[in-house]
Formats: sequence, structure tokens, C-alpha cells
Amino acid sequence: MIGDMSVSATAHGKINLHLGVGDVRDDGYHELTTVFQSVSLKETVRLTAASQNSARTVNVAGHDAHLVPTDSSNLAWQAVDEIRKLWSERAGVPLEETMDADIHITKGVPVAGGMAGGSADAAAALVAAREFYFGRHPRPQATRNHRGGASIPAPTDVELRTMGASLGADIPFCLLGGTALGTGKGEELLSVMSKGSFHWAIATDKRGLSTPKVFQHLDLQRANADRLARRAGDPSGLQRALMHGDPEELAPLLVNDLQAPAISLMPSLRETMAAAKEAGALASIVSGSGPTIAMLCADAEQAIDVATAVSVAGKASATTTTSTPASGARVVK
Ligand code: C5P
Repeated sequence: MIGDMSVSATAHGKINLHLGVGDVRDDGYHELTTVFQSVSLKETVRLTAASQNSARTVNVAGHDAHLVPTDSSNLAWQAVDEIRKLWSERAGVPLEETMDADIHITKGVPVAGGMAGGSADAAAALVAAREFYFGRHPRPQATRNHRGGASIPAPTDVELRTMGASLGADIPFCLLGGTALGTGKGEELLSVMSKGSFHWAIATDKRGLSTPKVFQHLDLQRANADRLARRAGDPSGLQRALMHGDPEELAPLLVNDLQAPAISLMPSLRETMAAAKEAGALASIVSGSGPTIAMLCADAEQAIDVATAVSVAGKASATTTTSTPASGARVVK
């Protein structure tokens, strides 16, 4: 029965192990060369059938839930809209007669931290909404859709990635997961080999940083020939270290062109990174556009020690641990 329908999906956050930023394009985005790795921290999105007479609701629970918008600026909301629209077109049913979904988000990825928490919400919402509207995916052979009518073709994984890219640059990677080389604005992806797991301590800062502002600040630093504004080289050495699964080899190769502008906008990040070094982390790096700091450790035990020491040093809002890589977005039962 439609009123009982509920579909849940998870999607993981990410760290950019290599983030090389090129020039700004006409559409306002920058050309990137990046190596993403998904983290074990994840978002869960559950969709339930909305009552016909009331507007869609978004409920958010978990880590920093109060910071997440619950209106149409929420990326999960926009993702559900895209899939609902597609179902209405393919089924030939007017949009206003198409069932709507309430959205329930449980957050595990820091908000506005440069770890793609909002993008993971959108990725999880896309795969959940595909199943919510089009039935089980991939569809078992020779079955009919959940409404008992003729089969309406569901969007493929490639279509879902294209829809994701139109909503945000990191969403295609959150759909794919694992380890990937990203080019274009970060949405053109090639999976990359990575052996074993890497262990990280994570320090968050609840003040958050605006991604567009950090990119703009990099442009400014480059225009002013600021010696701190750098250009990362090519990531082939880093890709080799990933194939060897060796954190000691990986540590000196972590690089992020957005680190200098993020630190310039939030100088206290330098102290968090100094605390990580003092605590014995192999390396630390600003995650994406920050202000989260990812601290690479030799193993899971050291990650706990480093997270504790950085927390005691008192420069970060909170610390946690995570491991990489993790999976892409998927429906969970
Ligand atoms: O696509 P998304 O909404 O995640 O991007 C947020 C902002 O970050 C963009 O509007 C843009 O200002 C900046 N950005 C960029 N180049 C990229 C990705 C993001 O300039 N490749």
C-alpha cells in the first residue's frame, strides 16, 4: 500500500586526498583535478509517502541537525524533486497528481565542513527516490512496478550521476563512493585502485566555511601572487601510494590548493594542524574547502589517540575518527 511506503538509503562523506584547483570557468566553477576517497561517516535518508493534503516535510536528526535547512534549499529536497518530476514525465501523470515524499535525514557527516555532507544527502535521496517512485532497482527480470502497472523505465546509474552533477559538484562522487579521480568541476569520475583502509582523526569547526568564498579567496590570493597560493601537481605519486596501501607513503603526498585560502579565512586551523602534528599524526590536511581538518594516522588506534589529543588541545569544536574508503550511495533495508 502506498501509504506504508518507506525507502531508506545511505551515502558517505568524502575527503579530497589531492585537490588541485585550476582556473575559474565561465559558469563560475573551477576546473579541478582531485582524488576523492569516501569516509565511513555517513548520512541516512528515509523517504515516506507524504499525506496528500499537506506540504512536504523535512526532518533532520543527528550531528548538528539544527544547522540543516528544511526548505527547498535542502539538496535532498531538490534531489527528490528531480526524480518525482522524471517519474511524472515518464508515467504521463501530471506532477500535481504525483505522490510526494516526506524526507527524514540522519546526519553523521559534519555540516558545512568540506566533507560533502549535503551532497551525501542528495546522493542518498536520489537512490532512495529512484526506488520510491520506480520500484526496486535493479528491477528483477520480468516484473511490473510497485503500483502494479506497466513498467516505467527507472533512471540508470549514469542518468542519476548526471542529475546529481546538476545539483552539486560532489554529488556524483557521493553516488559512486570508493576512491576516484575527479576532473571537470569534480563530476567526471574514474575509479582509482586503493589497497586496504586508511585511518583518520577528524577535527570539525562549527563556524563552517562557505565553499564559494574559499574558492574566491584562492582566486584573489593567486591574483595577488600570494606565495601561499599554490598549484598542486599531478596526482600520479599519490595514486601509487594508494595502490600500495601505505599511509607513510601517502602522508607527504596529500595536497589541497584550498588549504591556504581556508586557513587565511580561519587562521585557528593552523593551531589544530599543529596539535595534530604534536599528537603524532602522519599528516594533516584541510578537507575540501574546510574547515574540517583530516589527520592521517598509522592505524585505527593512533587515530583515536590523535582525536583525543586534538580535542584536549581545545582548538577544534569536536573530533571524531573515520576510515577510508567506504561505499557509494545505496538503498538499505
Ligand atoms: O556544486 P556545489 O554547489 O557543491 O559548489 C558550491 C560552490 O563552490 C560553487 O557555486 C562554486 O562557487 C564553488 N566551486 C567551484 N568549482 C568547483 C566546485 C565548486 O568554484 N569545481
